[in-house]
Amino acid sequence: MTDLRSAGPAAEGHPENLAPDTVVVSAGRPGRTHDAPVNPPVVLSSTFLGRGEVQHGDRAYGRYSNPSWDPFEETLAEPEGSPLPALVFAPGLAAASAAMPLLPAGGVLVMPQHSYQGSLALAEQLAARGALQLRTVDIADTEAVKARLEGADMLWLESPTNPMLEIAELQVLTAAAHAAGALVVADNTFSTPLGQRPLESGVDVVVYSVTKYLAGHSDVILGAVVTADEALRTRLIEHRSLHGAIAGPFETWLALRGVRTLALRIERSQATAAVLAERLLAHPGIEAVRYPGLPQDPGHGRAKAQMDGFGSTIAIQVRGGAEAAETVVEAVRLWVPATSLGGVESLIERRRRHANEPASVPENLLRLSVGIENAEDLWADLAQALEKAQG
Ligand SMILES: *Cc1c(COP(=O)(O)O)cnc(C)c1O
Repeated sequence: MTDLRSAGPAAEGHPENLAPDTVVVSAGRPGRTHDAPVNPPVVLSSTFLGRGEVQHGDRAYGRYSNPSWDPFEETLAEPEGSPLPALVFAPGLAAASAAMPLLPAGGVLVMPQHSYQGSLALAEQLAARGALQLRTVDIADTEAVKARLEGADMLWLESPTNPMLEIAELQVLTAAAHAAGALVVADNTFSTPLGQRPLESGVDVVVYSVTKYLAGHSDVILGAVVTADEALRTRLIEHRSLHGAIAGPFETWLALRGVRTLALRIERSQATAAVLAERLLAHPGIEAVRYPGLPQDPGHGRAKAQMDGFGSTIAIQVRGGAEAAETVVEAVRLWVPATSLGGVESLIERRRRHANEPASVPENLLRLSVGIENAEDLWADLAQALEKAQG
């Protein structure tokens, strides 16, 4: 199947070499003609006019292409450093479902043992029916990962991991995987292109849950894939067109609207996360804090070297086990007890409440997604909840 997407309407005239935090604001806008709308329209059409043979670049039909996708796809690709537009999918897991089968049938997939549990479950399901062979690894242990790369067809990277916040050495592992003949996919959901650009480390395909930081308002489920490799991208388009996990025009528009404020949201939530992580570390009710921004964190050095900022997600282990951790979740009044992350509102969750969360994630681990509320209000609420748990 050919690429039936036309080039987007907005790239024309957009200056080059802008900083990523400018690009997320300025890219993907309609051309500068008199009375043009400042924002791209939402196009609700299942089909597009055409006569004669369908040509490369024709839209043709709404499962292949929608004008509402183009501005978002351009806006995500530019800060990522890809000359080719991103590909938007329904959820992040649809993006992962498209990227994973880029390995040959029955091939070997090497994956972090603490990958996002949905991606891990997907790999396990594909492995169960022989579509691939799964090798899980401690992604922070570079030498151990290298040793497992022999005969691998794909290395799946996630850094920081969800929810353990382990840091993988992106460049070293990517080079080792390529030397072993494997393709490299990185789930960059936690960092966004403002925090980390895996393509620059040589990664072949970047996967996003747009649902999280990119869209940023906990009101849309969306995913995306970015690759600078034309052939891989064509295969991903084929997957999207045939498997049908396509994004809705409204959802894509909402995500673009969210992306416009990405830099501000991350700046704020990241600064607050740093303050909260320091205070949590000193709190007697806390057994352990994982946050790559803490100098004591095992991933700190690596994170500092390969990330712009340390992100807005913190994992804590509460003294007193699962029960005390649940008490904290019960007691918060500002933090929202809910799964997911990356929204403007701060969320808190005990990850092991999910039956399919890996058993190596501690029972008393709470994942904190720091939002953009006032840092002192967030701390006061957390402190009173921790007090109840210890009381
Ligand atoms: C949430 C998440 C996903 C899955 O994304 P959905 O949009 O929920 O399908 C994948 N990877 C990571 C790291 C996530 O946090």
